[in-house]
Amino acid sequence: MRKPFVAGNWKMNTDSHSSVELAQAVANSASGLAGDKVNVALIPPFVYLQSVVKAVKSTGVSVGAQDLYFEAKGAFTGEISPAMLKDIGCNYVLCGHSERRHVIGESDELVGKKVTAAIGGGLLPILCVGELLAERDGGQTEAVVARQLKAGLAGLSADKMSAVTIAYEPVWAIGTGRTATPQQAQEVHVFIRRFLAGMFNEKLAAEIRIQYGGSANAGNAKDLMAQADVDGLLVGGASLKAEDFVKIIQAAA
Ligand code: PEP
Repeated sequence: MRKPFVAGNWKMNTDSHSSVELAQAVANSASGLAGDKVNVALIPPFVYLQSVVKAVKSTGVSVGAQDLYFEAKGAFTGEISPAMLKDIGCNYVLCGHSERRHVIGESDELVGKKVTAAIGGGLLPILCVGELLAERDGGQTEAVVARQLKAGLAGLSADKMSAVTIAYEPVWAIGTGRTATPQQAQEVHVFIRRFLAGMFNEKLAAEIRIQYGGSANAGNAKDLMAQADVDGLLVGGASLKAEDFVKIIQAAA
């Protein structure tokens, strides 16, 4: 049985005050669900991680980072190591979010190094995969997702895979208000599970959690979560309002 997992990616939003307020509001309303019926993670900007960790302490809500660097330490100006994130109480980390792939220019190989480093550092990576609109229209969805999974998980043996969550996030649905239909999400999630069965094994493929992300909100969460292979949601915009995000957590639980 796969426990639902809802994560809120705040991207480059909030400030020192509103980040804590939002974290507290989510933790207060989600207590009783978070950790028990559903895993919940808040993913704020780096600079607010510590105060958000403090705000949700002992509430069952976890905290994740939006990115990391694959090296352990040294002359990598501007970067953050897995050990640093672990040190301040972070559990999860996004790897290969589409904005990092397509805005910042991260390659599939770099994302793979980050996933391996995250696990090496005791973090739980959420590997994001998903196709551009032109790729979907060109019938390349499965090829793109397969390529991203292959490179993203290249450094891992099957026994390390229990730390990993996959997030299927069609790029055309992120921040656009154009959600994939539950059927479109389900189809790709089934493909991802089949691909992982081939790359690793059937048991692992049956156990791994696959989140959907792309304009998920309080109104569509239930229908998306009703799909057999949708195990959770990675939420951007709708995670910035506690009330909406809590409704999504409730729908998932
Ligand atoms: C995301 O940032 O991962 C995301 C899915 O954003 P949104 O929910 O705003 O589409």
